[in-house]
Amino acid sequence: MIIMPFPHLNGYEIAEKVGVGSFSVVYKAYTKTNPKEVVAIKCIDKRYQQKSFADNVVKEISLLKLLKHDYIVRLIDFQSDSKYIFIITEFCDEGDLSHYIRKKHKLAESLVKTFMQQLALALKFLRSHNICHMDLKPQNLLLRSKPKLQLKVADFGLSQIISPQNAEQSRFAGSLLYMAPEKLLNQHYDARVDLWSVGIIMFECLFGRNPFLNMNTKAIVDLMLKRGPIELPPNANITPVAEDLLFKLLKHNPDERINFEQFFEHPFLDLIHMATPENYHTAVSLIQEAIELDKSKQYSECLDKYKEAVRYLEAFIPLETNPNRKAMLALRLSEYTKRITALNDMLSGKENSKLVATDLQPLPLTDDQFDMLRGLSTLTPNMATGLDIGCTGELYMVEGKNSLALEKLTSALSLLIPILGNEPPGVRKDLLHAQVQKWLSLAESLKKVQSTSAS
Ligand code: ADP
Ligand code: MG
Repeated sequence: MIIMPFPHLNGYEIAEKVGVGSFSVVYKAYTKTNPKEVVAIKCIDKRYQQKSFADNVVKEISLLKLLKHDYIVRLIDFQSDSKYIFIITEFCDEGDLSHYIRKKHKLAESLVKTFMQQLALALKFLRSHNICHMDLKPQNLLLRSKPKLQLKVADFGLSQIISPQNAEQSRFAGSLLYMAPEKLLNQHYDARVDLWSVGIIMFECLFGRNPFLNMNTKAIVDLMLKRGPIELPPNANITPVAEDLLFKLLKHNPDERINFEQFFEHPFLDLIHMATPENYHTAVSLIQEAIELDKSKQYSECLDKYKEAVRYLEAFIPLETNPNRKAMLALRLSEYTKRITALNDMLSGKENSKLVATDLQPLPLTDDQFDMLRGLSTLTPNMATGLDIGCTGELYMVEGKNSLALEKLTSALSLLIPILGNEPPGVRKDLLHAQVQKWLSLAESLKKVQSTSAS
């Protein structure tokens, strides 16, 4: 392990150590700007470098610069001094996936699905740039909890731009426990090694442990040579569609393994219904239409709408990190599901099925717009911070802590109003404008409450 004192670098204040990688130490740090932003700083000691290693670092930096994507860790800055190289990226407050799995023991299938969807989109994006990662493992998948639970692919040190010469170079780089058999056995390999790693990661998420846990290198190599199937734990309780994907990813022979296109289309991923701001919008409209049709007794039409809406809505619950909103969405989901059962029973002429008129609530829209705005702000850190502060202000207001609420809203507005002034026309400007208006009027009413209670 590398031991190093806290480094000094311009413009940043180091807070604490958050991780140790194969060649680096990672710190949480703050920018010395006002307001300060939280970042992660990966420090690589130049003394440990060899030529190929320096190449890896340069590769990592140039790749990260190129790769701007929701599910890929964002590069903020890069510095170096006589001793160290520093890669400054967005900070992922939930740590890495390995740590997260250990904390939760294992993950619910619905959450595994969410993570696999996010990972799939990142891989799709990487493929569009002809890049394979080559070192996918839970330690290299970072998590952020805000605004929603998000997985971010990190550590591009070993990545390859896919080309035949490059493919030969990095043999035996990467971790054995996640390494595809063809690479481990020194055979010809290509981008499909990433799909094997995805399979092992999925296994580990579902069952809380690596399939090769406690096996030494020789035992793993022997198993690969025999092409021994990867066995599920005895108490494995997963759906057939999850099992189908898992086994297709964990095929020893890369020609038999699921390919990228099939992976992106696999029903377990169900990317069409993935939790995106647009899909939340779709769910909201579908529910509205369903409720209208239901009221006018067009039962079979409304049943289809409810069913489709529920497929969209289900995806939002696992990644919701605000407990109130999570409970609210889960409640709505269970109400709609009950309605679906009742409609099904009635339409199939089931005995004793009585259909009572519905008083179902639609899905709320405002948070959706907020989410969309928050999503659009990830590359503008001050705007994201302003939105988060405003959100905290609203929460204080709900809790009746009015002076704290006012304080937060005021500081959010002081960040957001100047940004709004410089924002080019477009959806983001419209949404930001609406948000600023809403918080301005909330702040006004809080001020009134304060002045009346003071007088
Ligand atoms: P290495 O190339 O040395 O493996 P990584 O980039 O994988 O380094 O980082 C090592 C560890 O540090 C990760 O597994 C993770 O726990 C932590 N870490 C890295 N980057 C961040 C980040 N942006 N936010 C939070 N933790 C991080
Ligand atoms: Mg790593």
